[in-house]
Amino acid sequence: MPIRQLPDELINKIAAGEVVERPASVVKELVENAIDAGATRVRLTTAGGGLTLIRVEDDGVGMDEADLRLSVERHATSKLSADDLDDIRTLGFRGEALASIGAVSTLSVASRPAGAASGLRIEVDRGRKGEVHPQPMNRGTVVEVRELFGAVPARRKFMKSERSEGAAITDVVRRLAMANPEVHFVVEGADRSPLNWPGHSGEGALSARLMQVMGADFADNAVPLALSRHGVVVAGLAGLPTYSRANSLSQLYFVNGRSVRDKVLLGAVRAAYADFLFRDRFPAIALFLAIDPGEVDVNVHPAKAELRFRDAGAVRSAVIRSISEALAAAGFRAASTVADDVLQAFRVPEMAEVMPGEARGFAADVTSFSPRPMPAASGFAGFAEPSARFDPLPTSADAEAEFPLGVARAQMFENFIVAQSGESLLLVDQHAAHERLVYERFKAALAEGPVASQAHLIPVVVELTEDDCARLEAAAPTLERLGLYLERFGPRAVAVRETPALLGQADVTGLIRDLADGLAEWDDVAVLSDRLEAIIGRMACHGSVRSGRRLRIDEMNALLREMETTPHSGQCIHGRPTYVELKKRDIERLFGRTR
Ligand code: ADP
Ligand code: MG
Repeated sequence: MPIRQLPDELINKIAAGEVVERPASVVKELVENAIDAGATRVRLTTAGGGLTLIRVEDDGVGMDEADLRLSVERHATSKLSADDLDDIRTLGFRGEALASIGAVSTLSVASRPAGAASGLRIEVDRGRKGEVHPQPMNRGTVVEVRELFGAVPARRKFMKSERSEGAAITDVVRRLAMANPEVHFVVEGADRSPLNWPGHSGEGALSARLMQVMGADFADNAVPLALSRHGVVVAGLAGLPTYSRANSLSQLYFVNGRSVRDKVLLGAVRAAYADFLFRDRFPAIALFLAIDPGEVDVNVHPAKAELRFRDAGAVRSAVIRSISEALAAAGFRAASTVADDVLQAFRVPEMAEVMPGEARGFAADVTSFSPRPMPAASGFAGFAEPSARFDPLPTSADAEAEFPLGVARAQMFENFIVAQSGESLLLVDQHAAHERLVYERFKAALAEGPVASQAHLIPVVVELTEDDCARLEAAAPTLERLGLYLERFGPRAVAVRETPALLGQADVTGLIRDLADGLAEWDDVAVLSDRLEAIIGRMACHGSVRSGRRLRIDEMNALLREMETTPHSGQCIHGRPTYVELKKRDIERLFGRTR
């Protein structure tokens, strides 16, 4: 076949395939245009998940007749003045959206600029441009897209259900609304529940908008980000580690007001939370980055959802730093939803369950939040061994009010400290808390130089596989920095001479086995120094006051006081909460005392 120049109609259809993937991408382009036009109010109406109708109405600057005719042409844009792709300050710039949408739908664009007596309207029907007609309307622009992909049955087949297309549209609007808190957004249609987010201005605008979009729950369990460093400005809200999620859907990234997916940002957030979260948990975060437009290339993706930073290192370190600082400032705060979860676990027993001799029903219920199952009580035998310690303490209301984590009152099940602080009851997981304290002490000690060790009179010999021994031997110099001295002891054993003083009476065999497992997992000993924190994490686990150890009241109080002054002590190193707080009024709620 000879080469031929493709007709415009076909070119537009091909381009449409890139820009207009699904109804949500149309919504994105149209709402971005409204924002670029300086709208203060955007109203979106959809039908049939956007496949039947998408209508976007704005009160922006509008277009005169010449612009209106040009707007639906390919590569026609008002947003690139100096032919300079390095200084893009608008959301659009490619001049492709309206032309592409018009190629695969029935498109109508009506507009009335300031000063014009009335509006004008142009229609594009599956790539065929119509005439301009008068249209009575308010100032601004109304774009209607009907029967999207009606002429492209192949594409229509790929659409998901109306409901999931509708949900994708909502997601797009959410992101645009977050990035533009001053704009009033209204979303409506027979296919959805309506949204109405009035605009905000001034200082608290962003947090007010995040509250609307992400919900008060997130706002209550997040800390504000604020950092400006080497030309990178970070703002937003970072969720507390205890408020983590099982997937990354609650992570929203914005660069210069544009919602993006970006590996650099994702990686930086992951790194910032590495201390607190297991691999399979994801923090919730809304991160806003402002950076000189010349420092970022947004033209690497047709829908502009991806970008490239010129100095990824600077961006990464600014993001990590801002999150670390914010989380450290949050100190021992744990997620408030943790207490809610606890309340859910309590259940008022049904009448049948509290019948004499039928205590099992209640006991079974208790196991849903107790760390190990309790045997069903038979008679009073279950009470013969008290598992709670009471050390009545001279009550001092002052002391309670003074300490955020309160004053210890009792220890339950040899692991949970019961404390009272003002109007709150606190339950502290002593093992989890101590693990975090040891971890943080370790990190602080390491920053000062090699960690102090204590010698064992008789070296502890630990038997392992040959591979494990070899890996431990290779890691010995690194481990020595952490206060752990060991050497090879025959083909399948190592002898441990000294252990970190911080760990106290550690279970050396368990510790070494666990480290060997870790080394096998990480394997590449060359980068072991990057793994120091992971190694410390494993060590801290073994030095901890294991559950099952009785503590005196003064030991419990010492633990609480140390938690209050230790960063991140609201979560153990695996991201689980170290304590839960029940407000007096929550407890009253349990007993139906509230009205
Ligand atoms: P781009 O946004 O990349 O410039 P589009 O195809 O989305 O390309 O729009 C083409 C042009 O039409 C824009 O540059 C703008 O001048 C004009 N335009 C589109 N939508 C609107 C609107 N809602 N209000 C005012 N002008 C608009
Ligand atoms: Mg555009």
